[in-house]
Amino acid sequence: MGSQTTSADLEVLSLLPSYEGKTVLAIGEGIVHLTGELAKKAGEVLAVEFTGSITNETENNVKFISVDVSSPSLDISPGTIDLIFANSLFAHLSDNEVEKMVQSIAKWLKPGGFICFVETCLNNTANQGQNNLIHCCDPKYYSKVFKECRVKDESGNSYELSVVGGKCHENKICWKWQKVGSEEDKGFQQFLDTVQYKARGILRYERIFGSGFVSTGGIETTREFVSKLDLKPGQKVLDVGCGIGGGNFYMAEKYNVEVVGIDLSINMISIALERAVGLNHAVEFAVADCTTVTYPDNSFDVIYSRDTILHIQDKPALFRSFYKWLKPGGKVLITDYCRSAGTPSPEFAAYIKQRGYDLHDVQAYGQMLRDAGFDEVIAEDRTDQFLKVLEKELAAVEKEKERFIADFSEEDYNDIVGGWKSKLVRSSSGEQRWGLFIAEKATKN
Ligand code: SAH
Repeated sequence: MGSQTTSADLEVLSLLPSYEGKTVLAIGEGIVHLTGELAKKAGEVLAVEFTGSITNETENNVKFISVDVSSPSLDISPGTIDLIFANSLFAHLSDNEVEKMVQSIAKWLKPGGFICFVETCLNNTANQGQNNLIHCCDPKYYSKVFKECRVKDESGNSYELSVVGGKCHENKICWKWQKVGSEEDKGFQQFLDTVQYKARGILRYERIFGSGFVSTGGIETTREFVSKLDLKPGQKVLDVGCGIGGGNFYMAEKYNVEVVGIDLSINMISIALERAVGLNHAVEFAVADCTTVTYPDNSFDVIYSRDTILHIQDKPALFRSFYKWLKPGGKVLITDYCRSAGTPSPEFAAYIKQRGYDLHDVQAYGQMLRDAGFDEVIAEDRTDQFLKVLEKELAAVEKEKERFIADFSEEDYNDIVGGWKSKLVRSSSGEQRWGLFIAEKATKN
């Protein structure tokens, strides 16, 4: 069985969370030959094949079931599966069947268990010849069905599915979701998702920053700063606090690099993944807290982070991690909100507190990078550029006032315009600043 496994299959399997010794349910197209590979590490594999014939060749820890997935005869005990891997499953189901299937999946999983599914996204013309597919992968639809799913266990505890990441390559998307308790305390993530970065809050930010972006200058500053990185095809980039992915898509498309975007906000990563579908470059997104995530040493050529580290309290620890995660000769590029060295005005102090930001002056920020081990640290005060960008962004929104209000609301408009005017006041007086930081990890330690 293993001999039939292709490199594409192995790539898909490499995206799965660790399943060593775990109970895995594999459903869908071509599962038979992937099963052998899964069985090497899993404790037990339950394989449901509905499009092909099952095989007689089985490993001890594999059980094959040949049944229509949507039939009630697929009887799996609730809360028993660690990982469900579904390959081209949903495209074969009607909307109603998809909804029922997602509900069953959420029941079968143990709390904390994962569902990973791979679907091929086809545009409408390509779809016409595919007579066995009911519809092509619509990420927004799947996202909605997964997000709205709620199940209860026998003690009445409520669970839901939460996106943890995904990868899109050519027209294939692999999504990962996790079964989590609905009442679990999600800490700072909840703060981000329900205060500053509610789905609507993100979209109104995007309206002013520009399509795909939630940071100063949108595509224009992205073009300028990314061009300083000397990116080469195939290089690996980590985007820390990637937001809705505009920077990732730009780097992948223009420079043919492999970008991994991480963000703690579920809303941000959901939007990024929905938009990744159909783009023909490798991009990977994960819901992750950059202060706790780990990567092997020497993993990335570039670490890129735009207007995100303002949220991080322990910057020295984060910069030490960046240093380790970078390959020798690797570069870090950061833009971030900063402040002047003096005591902030009460208004500015209140803003910093309400947002939970941690701001430093540009020189002290650069020194933190040096202290983390970086060489050749460039720490530039870009407040003048920040002011020009703010003015331009504000003017564009004011010009489109009617449309903004029609798409959002008058309150949203006033919030955004008021916020930008305050930023302008604070940065013209010089107390709010904006810094650009570029640093390198030496080729030899
Ligand atoms: N860099 C993106 C988004 C900037 S907004 C862009 O340029 O468009 C700042 C982002 O930082 C938000 O998406 C927020 O969710 C994310 N963030 C905040 N704290 C984080 C953390 N601890 N780990 C990862 N991302 C974080």
